[in-house]
Amino acid sequence: MRNAKSLIITAALLACVGSAVSIAGVEPGPETKQELQRAFPGVRVFEDSGRTRIIYGKPMTTDHAPRAAAERWMTLYGEAFGAGKLELVEEYAVDMRDGEMYVFMYSQTIGGVPVELSPGRVLVRNNDDGTWSVVYAAGLFVAIPEGGFAPMTHTAQDAMNFVKGTEQYGGLPKWSEAELVIYQRQVEEGFEGVRAWKFVGENPDLLEREKYTFFIDASTGALLEARNEVLNIDVFGYARGFATPGTLPDISGNAPVLFPINDLDVRVSGGNSAFTDNDGFFNITHGGNSDVTITANFDTGRWSNINDQSGTAVLSESATATPGQEAALLFNATPSQYKTAQVNAFIHTGLSHNMYSERSGWTGMDFRMTTNVNLNSTCNAFFDGSSINMFRAGGGCVNTAYTTVVAHEYGHYVVARLGLSQGSFGEGYGDTLA
Ligand SMILES: [Zn+2]
Repeated sequence: MRNAKSLIITAALLACVGSAVSIAGVEPGPETKQELQRAFPGVRVFEDSGRTRIIYGKPMTTDHAPRAAAERWMTLYGEAFGAGKLELVEEYAVDMRDGEMYVFMYSQTIGGVPVELSPGRVLVRNNDDGTWSVVYAAGLFVAIPEGGFAPMTHTAQDAMNFVKGTEQYGGLPKWSEAELVIYQRQVEEGFEGVRAWKFVGENPDLLEREKYTFFIDASTGALLEARNEVLNIDVFGYARGFATPGTLPDISGNAPVLFPINDLDVRVSGGNSAFTDNDGFFNITHGGNSDVTITANFDTGRWSNINDQSGTAVLSESATATPGQEAALLFNATPSQYKTAQVNAFIHTGLSHNMYSERSGWTGMDFRMTTNVNLNSTCNAFFDGSSINMFRAGGGCVNTAYTTVVAHEYGHYVVARLGLSQGSFGEGYGDTLA
């Protein structure tokens, strides 16, 4: 649901769909990732499970049309994903925000053979001067193994006979044709490509529904994966609350507006739970399709627990959720000073935490931080070595639980966790985070 924004597919952009992307040009060097970081200082690289996944953070290659910019990037820097020279097929292209950006979506092939689950994404931004720049590129690509693929000694028929001969899957009544694909096998140092036969075996009876996609190693005949395609219906949705916008406090000219609530622990009664992401979305693994009750509160947040010194209860909300349909939790629906302070403190402790965790592997703040709001005093806020503390409005001062003050106090906590001394350095550090 969260991705179902109104994306407009532009006819002109679809001209190349399904055709292989190949651009004559500069041959990529052996140290493409380093070249990329030299060419575009400050560019960020996100790695996961031993491979480069996302390259982002700075405008990169520029051209006079969005597709040309995307293809130029892939030609020059595609090797930065560590899968060698990429062979890509454009799946589709969409524009976003009324043509301000384009996303090009690819899949990988090796020698014309499709690589299973190999999405590529390139985001291109309009520079408003007749040029377009790549600002984000992501992929799940795999390389040909060193020394090439192992010889194919098992036919499609061998592969199907093997699975049909197993006790577990042999009874499935319906089978697809087998096709050759490149399967991405996880190995110690990352992933390697394996040529595999792919086919589906299923029981179409909805009361006894079973459906598996099988991958059989075309060289060894071994079962690489029996992927279960019958998925349970998750409970998903989003949490929002009225919080203070911008960098100003909760004053009459800066009334609370709806914001996503991040890092909230959303629980299905008697079931599983999940934290919301920075956009307030959650997805809870769930079986069954009856309505359930979901609850969340500011006491068991992922990165902070709120204590309200005014006597106002720590905010907690619940709602009925139908599996498979978007559910919603709304906090502080009728804003008041103390409740708005809670929402502000909850959101901005989490966002401050994520500012670090999204940019580094530092785990020094990975705990539920004590966050006290609405202390019975005015005109200050402080960090005491183990909690951050914000004051009520009064004495000519605003309630100090808002964006920049919360972040400033959080910054003091970071300084403490890094073992650095506070003093003027701590003040400057807190302000910088704010
Ligand atoms: Zn300070």
